[in-house]
Amino acid sequence: MSGEQLGLPGMTQTYACRITFSENNSGGTWWLQQEHYDKLFAAGWHPGRTSYNGSVRGAHRIIVLDAIDEGVANTTAYNMAVLEWEKLTGENSDDPGCSCCGAPYQFYDWDTPILLIDWRGRNYEPGVEQATLLAMFEED
Ligand SMILES: [Zn+2]
Repeated sequence: MSGEQLGLPGMTQTYACRITFSENNSGGTWWLQQEHYDKLFAAGWHPGRTSYNGSVRGAHRIIVLDAIDEGVANTTAYNMAVLEWEKLTGENSDDPGCSCCGAPYQFYDWDTPILLIDWRGRNYEPGVEQATLLAMFEED
């Protein structure tokens, strides 16, 4: 998905960003309950990684937004996703956890954003439906 993404200064483009959430195990127990994940999924989060027993212990959120470049897009999406996650779960994303296991929640913005619409207002991938591009992000 790399390629020329040059725009004019100050011009925004439309990006899809994927922010990944992962939960730590603490001494054999998990921090989030199924009801937390149910709320996340109902709000549009997608199931992420699973634990050894098959239970979902992570999620990712795809956020589409306008920004001047992919760095700004990713940072903004990260903040939006963490705020939404806190609102939905009622948990503190910065919870230090316990001294033995460490922080229970991690958030990552390691995926390169997908450019959906460039600064000229054109679909970046001619002939490729945006839904197809987004579907690439929805898979874990
Ligand atoms: Zn611990």
